[in-house]
This record gives sequence, C-alpha cells and structure tokens, in this order.
Amino acid sequence: MPDFEALIRAVPDFPKPGVIFRNMSPLLADAGSFARCIDALAEPWQGSGVQAVCGIESRGFIFGSALAQKLHAGFVPLRKPGKLPPPVVSVDYALEYGVDRLEARNDALHSNERVLIVDDVLATGGTLDAACRLVDAIGATLVGASVVIELDALQGRRRLPPAMRLHALMHY
Ligand code: IMP
Repeated sequence: MPDFEALIRAVPDFPKPGVIFRNMSPLLADAGSFARCIDALAEPWQGSGVQAVCGIESRGFIFGSALAQKLHAGFVPLRKPGKLPPPVVSVDYALEYGVDRLEARNDALHSNERVLIVDDVLATGGTLDAACRLVDAIGATLVGASVVIELDALQGRRRLPPAMRLHALMHY
C-alpha cells in the first residue's frame, strides 16, 4: 500500500446517502505525499512519449497538471459545459439521472498528438469514457489513462475503449 493511501479519507453518505466519497484533500495538503503520488502516477508512462496530459474537471486538473510537469508534457483541461470560449468540441455522457458534457477547445491538441487522460476517481466509467471520445473527436492519439483510485465494484473499466491502457494507483 502506498504511504499516501492513509491520507485518503472515506466519507460515508456524501454527496448522497449510500455513496462513500474518497476525499483526497489531506493527501494534496501533505507536500511529501503529494509528490510521491505524482511520482507513482508518472512511473508507468515514462518513456511512452506522452506529449499532452488531459485533466478532467475538476480534480483531474490538480493531478493532471502536476503529472504533465513530471512527464515534460503540456496540460489540456477537459471542461464542464460553458466554461471555454468557442470553438469547442463537445461529448455528452449519461449520468444516473440526466446527461452531462465534457468540452475542449478544438485547437487544444494537434492531430496525432500523444495524449494521456487523468482523473482522480474511476467509478462507473462514464466520465472517463467521454474524455476518451473527446480526445478521439479532436483527432489526437490516446496513449492511455491514469486514475488515482479505481472503484472496482462499479466495473467502470468495462465502459472504456477495450484496447486502451488504464493505470490505477489504488483500488477499492
Ligand atoms: P464516473 O463517471 O461514474 O466514473 O465518475 C467519475 C467522476 O466522479 C470523476 O470525475 C470523479 O471526480 C467523481 N467521483 C466519483 N466518485 C468519487 C469519489 O469517491 N471521490 C471523488 N470523486 C469522485
């Protein structure tokens, strides 16, 4: 178990009854643990030629921008709707009740640029799958995806492109 795992707190019944929220704020606040977490996220991708890290709003921005620095790559935010000036590329995805959308500037990535997507948690997989489709719609090359935590029971991995390389630092 990585030493920083102890700083991830389980918060029962948040944001709604029955959900266990994994709060990573104590990990981020501890300089050494945050640095070791970023080192561990970067390790599988060293030498894979990642040119851009795409972070999913909002906690994917925190881990993704630090990881981009570590991999000597650029950082591109994948944003909730209405935050970016046009022209944007959008992808919709289903939530338990309703739909949500991820957007990126259509010039945020070069065609065939080698991309790694990052988020904090993989739960049902809808968000990360939408991010994969967005990178694909822009015409970049998806090298893989990294998450800090994968919630195994929700089987989010099954929704992702089958050939995609997915790395999870921790499993619950
Ligand atoms: P999914 O689309 O169901 O895979 O949900 C993943 C998204 O929900 C990610 O962007 C996470 O930030 C967020 N999320 C889901 N569960 C948690 C949690 O326990 N802690 C923090 N974020 C979570």
